[in-house]
Amino acid sequence: MEQLYEQNTILDTAFKILKHDELSLEMKAYAKEHNIPIIDDSGLETVLQFLKLKKPKRILEIGSAIGYWATIISRHTNADVVTIEREVGNFEKACEYIAKSSVSDHITIYRADALKFDVSSLEGQVFDVIFIDAAKSAYQRFFEKFEPFLADDGLMISDNLLFHGHIFIDREDLSRNLRDLTRKIKTYSAWLAQHPNYETIFLPLGDGIAFSYRVLHKVGIDNGGIDDEQKA
Ligand code: MG
Repeated sequence: MEQLYEQNTILDTAFKILKHDELSLEMKAYAKEHNIPIIDDSGLETVLQFLKLKKPKRILEIGSAIGYWATIISRHTNADVVTIEREVGNFEKACEYIAKSSVSDHITIYRADALKFDVSSLEGQVFDVIFIDAAKSAYQRFFEKFEPFLADDGLMISDNLLFHGHIFIDREDLSRNLRDLTRKIKTYSAWLAQHPNYETIFLPLGDGIAFSYRVLHKVGIDNGGIDDEQKA
């Protein structure tokens, strides 16, 4: 009994940073009613913990859905968020919610398929964080397409790498489409883990989130730590 009490106390106080407001709860209810997948509270809390350390000024999100992540993240971090959504219904709902939010001046939303998005609209922009949360079949292509806009010390975040738990299920049990997506998500995670320019941690919170810090390759590492001045 005492142990149970302790566990509940931990759960009650688990979310120290995330604060829902009337709008985020309304969006959450809308997403549930319309079967729109949104990040859960544990995933949000995890992202917010990292962002508290990172202190981003500008964030790019690939896959807005109804603007849930963008509005909550901007409200908690004061960062400006640029977000891209392909699906018309979601885009319109996102516009409506963003307009109603307290951070409407901090969010720019584009309606586009991120893979076809004309990146010239981002010319000259640098993002401290890029959050990938769109079509699960195209994560690597999103990563590679938008990486040029990531700051040198930027953080790339990839959501849904557990793919609602499908990555643990025997592949025979899944439909062909799900099997295919699951394989692509696993391939992406493996690719990400071995990326020479990023250090990645995979966390099994929310629906599985990867945080990839860009590694700055310093002059001197390849010659045993002796810098050019010393060598001369
Ligand atoms: Mg997601």
